[in-house]
Amino acid sequence: MKIVRTLPELHAALAELGPVGLVPTMGALHRGHLALAAAARQAKRPVAASIFVNPLQFGPTEDLSRYPRDEAGDLAQLAQAGCDLVWLPDVATMYPSDAASTITVGGPATRWEGAARPGHFAGVATVVAKLFGQVRPHAAYFGEKDWQQVQVIRRFTADFLLPVEIVPVPTVREVDGLALSSRNRFLKPAERLAAPALYAALTRAAAQISGGAAVAESLEAAKHALIAAGMTPDYLALVGAETLEPLERLAQPTRLITAARLGSVRLLDNVAVG
Ligand code: AMP
Repeated sequence: MKIVRTLPELHAALAELGPVGLVPTMGALHRGHLALAAAARQAKRPVAASIFVNPLQFGPTEDLSRYPRDEAGDLAQLAQAGCDLVWLPDVATMYPSDAASTITVGGPATRWEGAARPGHFAGVATVVAKLFGQVRPHAAYFGEKDWQQVQVIRRFTADFLLPVEIVPVPTVREVDGLALSSRNRFLKPAERLAAPALYAALTRAAAQISGGAAVAESLEAAKHALIAAGMTPDYLALVGAETLEPLERLAQPTRLITAARLGSVRLLDNVAVG
């Protein structure tokens, strides 16, 4: 596995490897990230992962310095997963002092995480566009765990006619249903025990809505279940799977998405409906 930290090293490595599948990450890797690498391997092309904690996608009130970092552990896991190349740019490489452009995103970026975290998706789209320009992957792999993010990336990739296939990968969960996340380590023991209520509420509501129950009542019951588990729901909504626009009744394709605070952690999850 080649580890590169500068653009000349990256381009030399890519010249040897040919087109790669790209797995963009912010490090602190877990089995969810490794599932993206495994999906990339299935394409029978070399696999590149990037690790970059992107300051542009953190808001002024969000603690960038608290974001977990474990480069040695990450590299060991990527080598084990059969990664061919790891791209570890520094902030000056991603955001040179004369850089003057960022990407503006609308459509699926507007609501939910976009409203809760102003500038977040513009930061995500900007860093992903830069990674695409640097690595020029044939395909890039993103987790359905961040459903809205995948739709935002698909949208801007199509809008700018970027020649990259965007491949969504199903969410990897703990046995009790909690979606794996780098931030789960910040849950206190009692919060960790309560956290699976999020996925349980989503799957229950999705089954009710698929079975013909009223959408508003099912969503209300799910929110109450989150509150009963000690969470503060930020949103819990039935949305068009690609548009992220709220829906009052079941249409295809449809997604149930949620974000809820539990202690100091904001948990995100989503499931398919119907
Ligand atoms: P992050 O390092 O948190 O920015 O995540 C990097 C990529 O891994 C994103 O595409 C995430 O959606 C994906 N990812 C994170 N957690 C999971 C998970 N539990 N299952 C599948 N993919 C995930």
